[in-house]
Amino acid sequence: MDKNVKDKFVNTYIKRSWIEVDFDKLESNVRKIKNSLPVGVKYVGVVKADAYGHCMPQALMRFIKGGADMFAVANLYEASRVREVVSDRPVLVLSPVLKEERPLVFDYGATPAVSSFDEAKAFDKLASERGKILSVHIKLDTGMGRAGVWFERADEIISQILTLKNIKINGIFSHLSSADTDREYTLSQVERIRTIAQKFATDDMLIHIHNSAGLRYVPIEPPFNAVRMGLIQYGINPFDDGGGYEHLGLQSVLAFKSKILAVGERDGMRIASVCAGYADGVPAGFTDDARVLVGGVRCKIVGKVGLDEMYVDVSNTTAKAGDEVTFIGEQNGTEISLADYSRWTSRIPWETMVAIPRRVDRILIH
Ligand SMILES: *Cc1c(COP(=O)(O)O)cnc(C)c1O
Repeated sequence: MDKNVKDKFVNTYIKRSWIEVDFDKLESNVRKIKNSLPVGVKYVGVVKADAYGHCMPQALMRFIKGGADMFAVANLYEASRVREVVSDRPVLVLSPVLKEERPLVFDYGATPAVSSFDEAKAFDKLASERGKILSVHIKLDTGMGRAGVWFERADEIISQILTLKNIKINGIFSHLSSADTDREYTLSQVERIRTIAQKFATDDMLIHIHNSAGLRYVPIEPPFNAVRMGLIQYGINPFDDGGGYEHLGLQSVLAFKSKILAVGERDGMRIASVCAGYADGVPAGFTDDARVLVGGVRCKIVGKVGLDEMYVDVSNTTAKAGDEVTFIGEQNGTEISLADYSRWTSRIPWETMVAIPRRVDRILIH
């Protein structure tokens, strides 16, 4: 959307605190990432947690336009939400499915991540009762020490699962525990899945381990033929030093804004009260170097953040009631990145994105 049209569109809403989600940027990020992958590598768009707070149902078609081949979510509720919009792409459920949720896998046409033979056996039984073959991905634990088939037992367990008549192994994957901090460990995880894939991979199986940070150190080469992209789709770099992602030219998708309610004077300072507090997802504590934008000027936060309001020193501005306050995003050519805001609030970027509650309006820019 053209900037003037966008401003007009955003300004038609009466709003107090809101996020703006720019779907053109989202689609363009997905396209840039997809185009950077070797030909034939499948793009799994990770859209768990409401597409990291970017309004998943409405965002899905833009992922598809950008080139996403399939989706990944955390649980079956999220899979059902994907299915309301998209019927023709696989939806991988990354976290273990609860026992009582297992029948829903069939209702939603989801692909579960299977972590044990017992689980596979239970799915096999349900599939057989329904006269169906269920596609699953095997979740390998290559070192996180959480859910998944422990890599040292993978030979045995995958061989057992292969005997089940109503289960089809469509993929084998693992999650990198510290791709953003520990290169050596990351590469050792990669070797573990590689060894197992060499034994079991078939042409129609997806073998995947890359998350956003994994793209830095792990070459996308056989056996890997799919990547699971989360954070970078939303324009956020997992590395402070650029990490070799600069050439992608990704753009931040989300802006977080509020308005000034009133401006008062105290101790020779002009203080604005802003209609956002911790009930709007602004954390109760900021570091001293935190700033918000008012009239394109970086302004300091004063005192404590309340439930509904917070206060900002606007002495260096001509701010008045009703003016915009930007926590994340661009204002008059000055920008606060989601990374800066996250650092000032002692959060990781993933947390910032998913921590904006429903009270905050969502403005979707198509
Ligand atoms: C969330 C998640 C991802 C995406 O991670 P990013 O770091 O956001 O790219 C990939 N794989 C699994 C298993 C996940 O849970």
